[in-house]
Amino acid sequence: MEHIYDVAVVGGGIAGFSAALSLKSLRLDYLWLGDAEFGEKVKNSEYVRNFPSFVGDGKQFFEALMRQKEREEIAFTHGRADGIFRTKDLFAISVLPDMYSARAVILCTGVDLRGKLQGEREFSGRGVSYCAVCDGALYRGKRIAAVLSSPDFIGEAEYLADFAEKVYAFAPFEAAFEHKNIDLCHDLPRSIEGNMRVERLLSDRGTYDVDGVFLLRKAVPPEALVGGLRTEGAHAIVGRDMATNLKGLFAAGDITGLPYQYAKAAGEGLVAAHSAKRYLSEISKI
Ligand SMILES: Cc1cc2nc3c(=O)[nH]c(=O)nc-3n(C[C@H](O)[C@H](O)[C@H](O)COP(=O)(O)OP(=O)(O)OC[C@H]3O[C@@H](n4cnc5c(N)ncnc54)[C@H](O)[C@@H]3O)c2cc1C
Repeated sequence: MEHIYDVAVVGGGIAGFSAALSLKSLRLDYLWLGDAEFGEKVKNSEYVRNFPSFVGDGKQFFEALMRQKEREEIAFTHGRADGIFRTKDLFAISVLPDMYSARAVILCTGVDLRGKLQGEREFSGRGVSYCAVCDGALYRGKRIAAVLSSPDFIGEAEYLADFAEKVYAFAPFEAAFEHKNIDLCHDLPRSIEGNMRVERLLSDRGTYDVDGVFLLRKAVPPEALVGGLRTEGAHAIVGRDMATNLKGLFAAGDITGLPYQYAKAAGEGLVAAHSAKRYLSEISKI
């Protein structure tokens, strides 16, 4: 007979881990599923400066999380969900060729910040960053490029200019910046080059010698994974209890919106687990 989990957590990052930790302590039968444990966003962080009690870089953060996972005996199932469907009172999670069933789901699939800039992946964590607030202070007195996908990121470029000697802001729109050390560039960024770390950004018009490149983008919408999920841009719309518009489906972490931060992801994972427990108690009374 098919096994039916109480809760399936989809996504192997901090939000998913936090949800799985809480589900275990709440004594629920959970499936924690992801295509990677913690993944690149943890391992590639140059320095984790804002997660309470932790001091170190991404690699050390990853190791600490793995130690905790082992100590708490948190089970992880490797697999990429290709569809989540609501059947009568259950969710079916497709991980081709397998199918899992759960009464509730916590969606923790993050946002995909990567694009198609040549060299971007190679230098991720070695000068390429996606988060001005996380890494801006590392570039005090340095020259950086900020690639802005929309005017929503003007504030982040200004934030970077507080630290950097010079910010080249690449934007496909007109923008006025308060900081005098921001140069607006309408060139099209093509590739990132360097040796051990980023050394330059090449555009369709020239070469910029920089120590870092910030790629400030909106992410991909999640409704492709869960039909009927209400979203706003790249993010699932949730309430304070992390509930989405679909009964029994919760979301936590970057997928629910800015700020993209470990502490927020961990907190939301915990809240979602408690909300899922409450939801299960309610449906068991019906
Ligand atoms: C280079 C870098 C450095 C950073 N440094 C900091 C920092 O210093 N401090 C800080 O607070 N924040 C930092 N951040 C932001 C932080 O990494 C994120 O806010 C956090 O990882 C979000 O956690 P999450 O669990 O929501 O999502 P993610 O970490 O993105 O995890 C989601 C996981 O789900 C997986 N997944 C996606 N779709 C599916 C699917 N269909 N099926 C199965 N699995 C799926 C993804 O592959 C991924 O492993 C940094 C980010 C980057 C990129």
